[in-house]
Amino acid sequence: MTRIFETDLRDGPSTRAIHAGQRPGAVSGAIMTPLYLTSTYVHEEFGVHRGYEYARGKNPTREALERNVAALEGATHGFAFGSGMGCLTSIMMLFRSGDHIIVGENVYGGTYRLFDKLLQQFGLTFTYVDTRDPQRIADAVTPQTRALMLETPTNPLMRLTDLAAAANIAKRAGALTIVDNTFATPIFQRPLELGADIVWHSSTKYLNGHSDMIGGIAVTSDEELAPRLQFILNAAGAVPGPFDSWLCLRGTKTLAIRMKAHDSNGRQIGHWLAERLGHEQVLYTGLESHPQHALAARQMSGFGGMISIELGTRERVKTFLDRVRLFSLAESLGGVESLISHPASMTHASVEPERRAALGITEGLVRLSVGVEDADDLLGDLEHALQGL
Ligand SMILES: *Cc1c(COP(=O)(O)O)cnc(C)c1O
Repeated sequence: MTRIFETDLRDGPSTRAIHAGQRPGAVSGAIMTPLYLTSTYVHEEFGVHRGYEYARGKNPTREALERNVAALEGATHGFAFGSGMGCLTSIMMLFRSGDHIIVGENVYGGTYRLFDKLLQQFGLTFTYVDTRDPQRIADAVTPQTRALMLETPTNPLMRLTDLAAAANIAKRAGALTIVDNTFATPIFQRPLELGADIVWHSSTKYLNGHSDMIGGIAVTSDEELAPRLQFILNAAGAVPGPFDSWLCLRGTKTLAIRMKAHDSNGRQIGHWLAERLGHEQVLYTGLESHPQHALAARQMSGFGGMISIELGTRERVKTFLDRVRLFSLAESLGGVESLISHPASMTHASVEPERRAALGITEGLVRLSVGVEDADDLLGDLEHALQGL
């Protein structure tokens, strides 16, 4: 369990991103956290060690990352994992057979797959609801409900959940609120301040930001949950290697400035696309025409670079994707480079076609992860691709 340095909570988000959780190396004063490539630690004498015994439980490079992200989220404890899904699997070990969990119906495809194909076999039960309407969450509560699992904004439909209202319902039901904050990042949204109990990330995405590692991280300020999460981390062992932790820590230093750049490009491209294609064809939380724009503006301090567009048919999608040059056709998101994907055949291929259709993930839907290149170049690329339609 990595507890933050309390002093790190005094600083603003950009300062925290660069400094929180890191102290100059004890041996040399190195300003950058060293990469601790070790599996074990030598005891000073029989019965005496420095708090480190075996690296599954603790690694100083990983600890610096855990403190850094915890401080960014305004949490007191952080727990890093080898992937976002490894992180969620570990969080789910807080529950036991018979427990009921309410889940946003439009969560990440891999989250749905983990719950539906694996965890259900262990006796956990899940109810998927459209959490845009908090009343539907309240209606789904049963005496067995132990958690509410949310993602906002969602992927790829950019739907929002009112976190304060949802967490309030969960609290009254005696259930934990768990939020996947991968899309918004703590720079734009801090769910713990709105009542969530656990926040987690695929650090593969914006936190690392350079598309060069896979990782997950969970944070909490709950003094009762923190030791349980540390126990699971060590007992189940889905931990990240030190080099991936180091890469992510290097990434979080620029998180605040990257998010500002993603947001600025996202706004320009979102508004341009809405003019070019019509507002109904563009899903972007920063557009006044987004049905939940008011909630987005209240709950988030930026809209980021995630935009989905409806092109109508699979054929038109193919033409469009064949013509883009700067947007690379790939799954994933949140890196400095712009990516483009077709959710129905890529990120959401594991969701049954009927379920996809019911959610609104159509064959014509394309998702953009707008990077931090020059906006004019990205706009030129999109215009050239759209001219082929
Ligand atoms: C990618 C992603 C995940 C899964 O994380 P991995 O690091 O790929 O295991 C979970 N949630 C969201 C929103 C994601 O985008």
